[in-house]
Amino acid sequence: MNDDEIASIRQEIRGNLANVLERIASSARKSGRKPGEISLITVSKGISPAITELAQVEGCRVFGESKVQEAQVKIPQMPAGLEWQMIGRLQSKKVRDALPMFSLIHSVDRDSLAGELDKHARELGKPANILVQVNISGSEKQGGVPIADIQPFIDKISNLDYLCICGLMAIGPYPAGENDLRQAYRELRVLFDGLSGRMGANFKTLSVGMSGDYELAIEEGSTMVRIGSAIFGNRRYK
Ligand SMILES: *Cc1c(COP(=O)(O)O)cnc(C)c1O
Repeated sequence: MNDDEIASIRQEIRGNLANVLERIASSARKSGRKPGEISLITVSKGISPAITELAQVEGCRVFGESKVQEAQVKIPQMPAGLEWQMIGRLQSKKVRDALPMFSLIHSVDRDSLAGELDKHARELGKPANILVQVNISGSEKQGGVPIADIQPFIDKISNLDYLCICGLMAIGPYPAGENDLRQAYRELRVLFDGLSGRMGANFKTLSVGMSGDYELAIEEGSTMVRIGSAIFGNRRYK
């Protein structure tokens, strides 16, 4: 990239980000919350380190990656002091590499994965922060625990001392109309609220909403949105 290209991409990201932050704020207010109560995860999967860094320069601090290998290459090239979160499917054999890099793992949906995270977190001497991924789409390839199995799953992994269960994560059904999406997110919020009453104070994150549906997700109770293409622009994704 030459300097002109960098300047123009930076400007595009700045405009996109301002737009996203404004929409997050307005959706938060619509749902009776303050803009600061919604966390933004900037999804940098598939984005080069140089362009990811432009988002950092524009103010992004928390990034979401979906592949351990890509994160291993990217994170060392980025400034220190940023936060990285794992939003993609995680294989048990990658847990050892993933844990030291990520402050939150969004995609825990199997006992075996939970057990592996607990084991390696114990070795590191620091609990692993995780979200339980809920399957609200009925599509198996998205992963996630079906709603009906969430309570037993959480009961089962709750006795792992080195897991900190911080909330739930879901990927919206796709394709879906607005009414179906709202309905799915409303059910998710009811599930989340029910669990919140029983879980400790750490259980406070509901990670749902992407570029195509984050406003709606916030209106229906999301506390954390994962946004890639609305910030970086579609065409930069490989
Ligand atoms: C890619 C991805 C996102 C971001 O998607 P955009 O539509 O580009 O905002 C969010 N969550 C997960 C789990 C993803 O894989």
